[in-house]
Amino acid sequence: MVIAEIKSLADINEMIKSFRKIFIVGCGECVSVCLTGGQKQVELLSSALRISGRNDKEKRILKGKTISRQCEPKFLEQINKDIEESDAVLSMACGAGVQTLSEKFRKIPVFPAMDTKFIGVSDEAGNFIEMCSACGDCILSLTGGICPVTRCPKGLLNGPCGGSKNGKCEANPETPCAWLLIYEKMKELNKLEELKNINNPKDWSKNMRPGKVNAGI
Ligand code: SF4
Ligand code: SF4
Repeated sequence: MVIAEIKSLADINEMIKSFRKIFIVGCGECVSVCLTGGQKQVELLSSALRISGRNDKEKRILKGKTISRQCEPKFLEQINKDIEESDAVLSMACGAGVQTLSEKFRKIPVFPAMDTKFIGVSDEAGNFIEMCSACGDCILSLTGGICPVTRCPKGLLNGPCGGSKNGKCEANPETPCAWLLIYEKMKELNKLEELKNINNPKDWSKNMRPGKVNAGI
């Protein structure tokens, strides 16, 4: 899932300081699961902004709603009226959600309340780690299902680098060396011999931005 973090209250206040009627939109997908942009967070942000704006001459009017998915235009119909009645929108979604809102509601400023961080998973409650950089040319079949592009800070396709110590990465001693994880997994799979093969450089042309996929429907 997409992992995002809420921006600081100071940064959010700076973005909306010249607007009075603010509509906060949460998203019911990834950011809800990673506990940063769902209905509860919409309510918390609403309260925090109300309190921080209490000394403003003109009182803020804050409304909030969470829709199923901000990155899918059909769900945006549900908030047409709320948007019409607002001066500005704060989106609590990933960057794709913010841009979908901004594209549909062209006459109203849409601001990101979140910083989109990465594609990842939760390894323990409330903790998320990056797993995939969406490189467009997946090589997990060669590396025992562990992504060296993302989980090795050097993105080494043939590792380890030699700096690994006690199973940890030299660039970040709190993180396991991705290539040690790959080695251990390949051993469990009885595929250690395959690690003697040299992986070719990646074809980064498959990572051209902006990416486009046609599902052929
Ligand atoms: S190889 Fe590419 S697509 Fe596969 S997990 Fe890693 S970054 Fe993602
Ligand atoms: S120690 Fe391992 S994970 Fe860290 S940079 Fe070297 S090969 Fe990559």
